[in-house]
Amino acid sequence: MREAPDNIICPSCSSPRVQVKGEIPPSCLFAGRTLNYVQKGGRLCRCPKCHLLFRHPLRSTNTLNDLYRSENEENWSEAARQRTDWCLVRNWLGLLDGIGRVLDVGCFDGRFLEYIGHDYQWFGVEINDKAAWKARMRGVQIVGRDFTNLPTLKPLADLATAIDIIEHCSSPSGLLGSMAACVRPGGYIVITTGNTEAPTWRFMGSTYWYCHIAEHVSFINPSWARHIAPLVGLDVQYIHLFSHADPQVTILYKYLEVIKNITYKISPALFALLRRGGMGGIDLKRFQGLALSPPNWMSAKDHMLIVFRKLSNS
Ligand SMILES: [Zn+2]
Repeated sequence: MREAPDNIICPSCSSPRVQVKGEIPPSCLFAGRTLNYVQKGGRLCRCPKCHLLFRHPLRSTNTLNDLYRSENEENWSEAARQRTDWCLVRNWLGLLDGIGRVLDVGCFDGRFLEYIGHDYQWFGVEINDKAAWKARMRGVQIVGRDFTNLPTLKPLADLATAIDIIEHCSSPSGLLGSMAACVRPGGYIVITTGNTEAPTWRFMGSTYWYCHIAEHVSFINPSWARHIAPLVGLDVQYIHLFSHADPQVTILYKYLEVIKNITYKISPALFALLRRGGMGGIDLKRFQGLALSPPNWMSAKDHMLIVFRKLSNS
């Protein structure tokens, strides 16, 4: 790890003391779309002060928003299956009383809110117009396009959720602060995302599959959550680590993922050669910019669910 050039500052705490962990491999995908150019991955940076990891440089907010607005509907099928994190949130919610108004930030087409059930009033924030329209058709009240113009709900929400959202935000502390502002004192915030402190991520560093995904720009961990929580009037109540893979995956699948990642770690060029030979599960004729992309590690326990509670006196 080396010190970053002077012009890089932490997007969460503004510290100028930032380290570079390494180069992120290039990609030609963004939010399920194949782009007609290869995008550089940039560098994976780490802030020793607040523990955030982040991609640098970032594309402009306008470019990112344009790419999200033209998101591929094919990618939406991901939301259709029963996801581990959805299941975890619903089970946790079932243990609580006093939750009526739920705001889902990045609610997409409203399927998560529908999944948690009709015992709650549904509110959503969504930037993609088509997805927001579909959410409305499901009964979700759309109250904003993104968290930067998140209105203060009256009355405030009992629970705000961001399911696989914070890794897309260039200002993760801004997202958490906005969510804290629209939750009642004593209410909850639930975030699910990748965990940079997972052993598999520590092993692969800047070539970890999760930070290679081009639309992922901010990467948090339990240490970051504990650092930021008191600064925005929150308390970390609960952290649960989990894997995003289907629980039914076989031992063989898990071993193959380990072997592929170790091979890539030893020699990305050798791995790219194997990909060109037809191994690795990517059609390189269709995705020519993905030859050097690292293998997934879906079976790794590299995700987490964090429950924050808003302090009663904030
Ligand atoms: Zn920082």
